[in-house]
Amino acid sequence: MRLSTRSRYSIRALLDILANGGVRKPVSLRKVAERQNVSEKYLEQLFILLKKAGIVKAERGVKGGYTLGKEPEKIYVGDILRLTELDVTPVPCIGCNRIERCICKVYWDDLGEIIMGFVDSVSLEDINQRSITMGEKRRTGRDFSTVELKNEINRLKSERDAVLLVHNYQRPEIQEIADYLGDSLDLSRIASRLPQKIIVFCGVKFMAESAKVLSPEKTVLIPRFDAGCPMADMITTDELREMKKEYPNAKVVCYVNTSAEVKANCDICCTSANAVNVVESLKAKKILFIPDKNLADYVDRQTKKEVIPFHGYCYVHEFIEKWDIEEQKRLHPDARVMVHPETKPQVVKIADYVLGTNGMVNLAKKSKIKEFIVGTEEGLVARLKRENPQKKFYLPSRKPICSNMKRTHLEDVYYSLRDMKYRIEIDQKIIKKAQKALKKMIAIK
Ligand code: SF4
Repeated sequence: MRLSTRSRYSIRALLDILANGGVRKPVSLRKVAERQNVSEKYLEQLFILLKKAGIVKAERGVKGGYTLGKEPEKIYVGDILRLTELDVTPVPCIGCNRIERCICKVYWDDLGEIIMGFVDSVSLEDINQRSITMGEKRRTGRDFSTVELKNEINRLKSERDAVLLVHNYQRPEIQEIADYLGDSLDLSRIASRLPQKIIVFCGVKFMAESAKVLSPEKTVLIPRFDAGCPMADMITTDELREMKKEYPNAKVVCYVNTSAEVKANCDICCTSANAVNVVESLKAKKILFIPDKNLADYVDRQTKKEVIPFHGYCYVHEFIEKWDIEEQKRLHPDARVMVHPETKPQVVKIADYVLGTNGMVNLAKKSKIKEFIVGTEEGLVARLKRENPQKKFYLPSRKPICSNMKRTHLEDVYYSLRDMKYRIEIDQKIIKKAQKALKKMIAIK
């Protein structure tokens, strides 16, 4: 993959439009060209492509120019690259043009997919926020050290009477400042029992939404509004409606990794830990299980009910390969394997334990096993090592990393508390319905 100046200038021009009010009013392309020090003609050519794709809209007239065609959080770098780059597929190494027969091709293909997966998750607003943060540092000259940042966060937390909930997959420095560290549902349950009125949820959006659904009277903040979950985004309410039409007698079990709106259209929620119990608790013989096909497969093997999966998956757990776990077993013959049920069936099959993140934390703490091979996002291993310094934990050689979980930095938590952003707002009707699906599940366990 070669990146040219076309994508660089396109992104810079779009950011310029965003910074100059181009969400609502047109911004002159001539002025953008002047500010970005690039020829207007060159930008015009790029904007023909961006306009065709609906990324920008053109307005004619004296006060004409360009506005963004979509909200900046819905404009993804991946889409811009596909439009402006001539080729985003792997290219032969210098001096070699045998890419089709090259033994490395499969790795370049994998790498290409990972890169595109990453840039597909980075939005224009994401880059905008980063540049605001960096600009603020430059303007104020305040480049906090890690210790200062942690102190500031603690000060703001007590000043605002806020509590910090942190998911197991977050960066180690974020885990260290947590008031509560855990999996998404436990954290939401904890949040609903806490006296603080402000919850800062360091995780991804569906988690913060669950906290809001269970505590609608509280203010729930997510430090990075663009920290989404690709698996949760794989199913829309329209797709769910279609599925329900096809199986009118089935009940819908939805994994907590879904948006509040999708939850609101389900019969009951489940976590990776209680999915089998939840399915068993229903009278229906047919179960629509959304969105994770791997968790659905895991449940299907343990129930007599017919489990009809949706085709979603977590790209982080899907990335864990059987050969990689086997390789770790060969390297560490005394280690036991624990994997998340979001991993592929062939990986689940060779594991000693199939557990959610809290299950892994408990097993590592309570069992006498001294070495573990861990098949889940690498953030959990940081916690396992910290809490069990006498034990050893090994990850697959291709580290499973969730780029969405890693978006939150200490600066984001600081700005979140300082500016009270980003608030999770959900329609009351959706809250009510989603709450029902969540509470039904909670009543089971
Ligand atoms: S690890 Fe997977 S399920 Fe969790 S937030 Fe990332 S993409 Fe979503």
